[in-house]
Amino acid sequence: MIIVDYIYNEYILFYYQKKVSATKEKRLKMKLNDHLFFYPENGILDCNTYVIKDQKAMIVDVGLDKYLPLKVNAMEKDGINPHKIDIIANTHLHMDHAWSNEDFKNKYGSKIEIAPVQKQFYDVSVRQTSQFFGMDPVDFQEDGLLPTPINLGTIEIEVIPTPGHSPDSVCFYCGQIKALLCGDLIFEQNTGRPDLPGGDWEQLKQSVEDVSKLDIDLILPGHMNIISGKKNVKKNFDFLMNNIF
Ligand SMILES: [Zn+2]
Repeated sequence: MIIVDYIYNEYILFYYQKKVSATKEKRLKMKLNDHLFFYPENGILDCNTYVIKDQKAMIVDVGLDKYLPLKVNAMEKDGINPHKIDIIANTHLHMDHAWSNEDFKNKYGSKIEIAPVQKQFYDVSVRQTSQFFGMDPVDFQEDGLLPTPINLGTIEIEVIPTPGHSPDSVCFYCGQIKALLCGDLIFEQNTGRPDLPGGDWEQLKQSVEDVSKLDIDLILPGHMNIISGKKNVKKNFDFLMNNIF
C-alpha cells in the first residue's frame, strides 16, 4: 500500500484496500447507450464522470480540474457539445467530485444545481472533509436546487438521498434505462468509506439496502469499474451484504 493512496483515495475503505483495476479496454468504453456516457477517472483526486443526454443534458461529478480538458475532448468525440450541457450535478460534494464545478460552469455556461441535502451539508462535505485531508476546500456557488425527478425531456431522474459515505450523498436513478449513478455509495465488491466527516456505517448499510430494491441493469459508481447486467448487479449487492456488512 502506498501512503498516498491511503491519504487521498478517500473512497477506499481503510481496512479493505483495493487498487483501481480497470482494464484499458473497459476504460475506452465511453458511450453506454444513447443517453448515457461514461468518462473514467484519471488518477488521484479525480472521479468517474457521467453525462446523461436527452432534450436537456446533465453532467454528473466533473472531477478534478486537471483532467477536465481530457474528458471534454472525449465527450466531443462522442458528439456531446459541452456548451449544450444544461446542468452540473454531483452525487456528493467531496472535492474529488465537485472540484471542476466552477470551471465547467465558467467555460460552458451550465448551471450548478445541488440537491437540498447537499446545500444543508455543504460545510461538512466541502470544508470539513477537505480539512480532514489537510487540503484547502474548493468552494463553489450553486445556481439552484435540483428537483426530483429531474426532467431531461423523455428521461426522468430520481434524486435519492443515500447518506453513509457522506451526509449529502445522493444517487441518481433513471428507471427508463435502469441505471443508478451511485457516487461513492457502492463500488465493485466494496462500499465507500464511512469514516469521513458526517459519515455513518449504519446509514451506509441502510442506503445500500434501499437502492438494492430498485430495478437496476447498470451501476455507475464514482470510482473504479461500472457494473453492468442485472446478474452482475445482483451478485455485487449479495457480495456487499455477505462480505462487507
Ligand atoms: Zn467521497
